[in-house]
Amino acid sequence: MDAKQLLAGQLEFFLSGGTRSPAFRRESLLRLRRVLTDNQEAFIEALASDLGKPRMEAVTAELGFCVQEIDTTIPQLGRVFQNSRRGTPFLLWPGRSYATREPYGPTLILGPWNYPLNLTLVPVIGALAAGNTVVLKPSELAPHTADVLAKTLNAAFGPQVLRVVTGGPDTAKELLDLDFRFVFFTGSSAVGRKIAASLAPRLIPCILELGGKNPCVVEPGLPLRLVAQRIAFGKFYNAGQTCVAPDSVLVHSSLFAELTDELKRVIGDFFGADPSSSPSFGRIINDTHFQRLEALLKGSEILSGGNNKPAERYFAPTLVTVRDQSSPLLTQEIFGPVLPILPYKDKHELGLLLKNFPSPLALYAFSLDKDFFRRLRLSYPAGSYVLNDVFTHILNRELPFGGVGASGVGSYRGREGWKAFTRPSSLMERSPQWELPLRLPPYRDSVTRMIQKGSLK
Ligand code: NAD
Repeated sequence: MDAKQLLAGQLEFFLSGGTRSPAFRRESLLRLRRVLTDNQEAFIEALASDLGKPRMEAVTAELGFCVQEIDTTIPQLGRVFQNSRRGTPFLLWPGRSYATREPYGPTLILGPWNYPLNLTLVPVIGALAAGNTVVLKPSELAPHTADVLAKTLNAAFGPQVLRVVTGGPDTAKELLDLDFRFVFFTGSSAVGRKIAASLAPRLIPCILELGGKNPCVVEPGLPLRLVAQRIAFGKFYNAGQTCVAPDSVLVHSSLFAELTDELKRVIGDFFGADPSSSPSFGRIINDTHFQRLEALLKGSEILSGGNNKPAERYFAPTLVTVRDQSSPLLTQEIFGPVLPILPYKDKHELGLLLKNFPSPLALYAFSLDKDFFRRLRLSYPAGSYVLNDVFTHILNRELPFGGVGASGVGSYRGREGWKAFTRPSSLMERSPQWELPLRLPPYRDSVTRMIQKGSLK
């Protein structure tokens, strides 16, 4: 279907009020739920083909996550457009005032490849719950998942409500040229900037969920086996291709050797002596990203890893340290199973290291000193902060999810989900019967004085 026609059809349906009733929005979410549960195996297989995604990760972080998002959103549908009564100033009596929320209308959602179900459908759930219509373009780099999404969702929904359009950057640009009422983008900061620039002249609002170079600070005092387990789980989940994975570990130099040893042991516990044969370890999305990761390693000291298998896109869990301050490992988002371990001697050196991680999606610290954590929060803006763990906050749908600065604009998920896809609005109802003449010309000095003194509100 022609994209212009598609948008026109969605706009017409939206403006007819067809998307507004709780019953319609509930039915849309239940329909989406059925698509997920009826096609579970097809989605799991597609995720395995695209990313070698372990079944457990496909079930928890993708399918199960979306189903739970629907289940917790449905009971909130009645609240989306609930008016909240506000006061009305005396000069505007008689009248009633309300704060309300309004949907944007036809919404374009552009998704990334790393969690190709979760990061496309969770925004779709928020958008539909809020009475918008949706055109979804999944990433072309996870083609199997994109195909299953297109086949199943396009069969289940009318194009005036939800349509999946597959394709790459050219398709995305073609869609972005149309006047959608709202755009939700998840992907790299570089592409996010282009998208914001293309929308700015038309003043189309957007949410940008972008890349994250997330530091993980390790201070003395915690059991290092547990610290290593938590870091390795967050880093090597989805083979490191997670926007909130710890990018690098910044460790107090007194712990460097012991933490490195613990990480090596934990990697062995998780994935065995040969992680390439572990069903719990995923694959790199494509050859380009595989080669990008190999190039990142140049000039670093490898502490463990190796035996990569390019033909299978198997990139081993790799621990490195970086001696050269100009290493790309310090300047680029790693987004793969390579974990730099960077020692610091004191807070001054830690501060210098942290300069390599401006406005991350998440800032992690392992420390018993809550005041230290509080000071990190004051000095380093981040999308989220987690004390004594990494990554797991993303599994908690009760929390808003979003970045700051280079890591994004806006947040969503859970109760923030439908809010992200609505805008605050005002509703005032004035009485048609009579009017207080006080504020009308000719102006009276006595009334002006009362307003100045604040005795008329
Ligand atoms: P990407 O920016 O390359 O692509 C994302 C989407 O944008 C895709 O649908 C793609 O087709 C489209 N696109 C690509 N080039 C475009 C262009 N020039 N104009 C318009 N659209 C274009 O990102 P990716 O490689 O799919 O994902 C990886 C990145 O996303 C990483 O940086 C990661 O940190 C980030 N990410 C962020 C979050 C988050 O929630 N903040 C989640 C996952 C991934």
